[in-house]
Amino acid sequence: MAVNSSPVALVTGASRGIGRATALLLAKRGYRVCINYSQNHVAAQALALEIEALGQESLLVCANIADEIAVCNMFNQIEHHWGRLDALVNNAGILQTQSTIEGLTAERINQILHINVTGTFLCCREAVKRMAKRHGGRGGAIVNVSSAAAKSGSPFEYLDYAASKGAMDTLTKGLSIEVAGEGIRVNGVRPGFIYTEMHADGGEANRVDRIKASLPMQRGGEPEEVAAAIVWLLSDEASYSTGSFLDLAGGK
Ligand code: NAP
Repeated sequence: MAVNSSPVALVTGASRGIGRATALLLAKRGYRVCINYSQNHVAAQALALEIEALGQESLLVCANIADEIAVCNMFNQIEHHWGRLDALVNNAGILQTQSTIEGLTAERINQILHINVTGTFLCCREAVKRMAKRHGGRGGAIVNVSSAAAKSGSPFEYLDYAASKGAMDTLTKGLSIEVAGEGIRVNGVRPGFIYTEMHADGGEANRVDRIKASLPMQRGGEPEEVAAAIVWLLSDEASYSTGSFLDLAGGK
């Protein structure tokens, strides 16, 4: 039997939005894709079928990225299933209802930091263990999905979420240097106002339409536009890029 030499990618939070668009584009570009999600099994399964229809392999893994044991199990599953990991997209992330600082509780802040920051750290750690040349790996590429909020701070809306994205950017920078000699590139994207269901979780489903006129490009972005940048950063075309960030925010 011929050995499948297609690269393997893990996209966290791939059941909808930017993660879903990224998983689909990676499949179109010849990657086998591990679809991670935490709750929405029906949507994740529908994506797996779409990827299958493209003639590509997928692996569905339900795992909360903030749960260390679940993360280790997910990476082990990929290893057992395909025996390699070439690309990681740390896309899963949450925000909560818009609030000023006076409405923030320790529980809420910790939950956001736990998923957005600790979850990203854990996935990076497990990926590096498998990709690093010193461990016999073949190198690889990681893209962390940050946010324009890391630079704006999201006053009056999402201070805690913005701070979590700032932490992700710092991780991207430091880790990129730490693993550059291991054949691993680590980059970040900072989307701005993208049409996804995340804004409804913040309590304002039409947030992008409210804000779009204030953007230099005067429109919101589509998940596919973010996916294209992520997939480029993962590709060999970006072979000399590490520790860098692409702003995908319509000029903001
Ligand atoms: P979304 O539509 O809310 O999708 C989030 C995805 O993450 C879902 O697939 C969800 O899966 C998954 N997820 C949530 N918590 C998880 C956990 N603990 N473990 C594993 N998966 C989890 O979000 P999006 O708008 O596509 O955003 C994707 C990324 O882009 C996020 O990191 C977000 O911060 C960033 N971003 C988005 C925008 C924007 O305007 N949309 C702007 C800047 C940055 P389940 O439903 O199965 O839990």
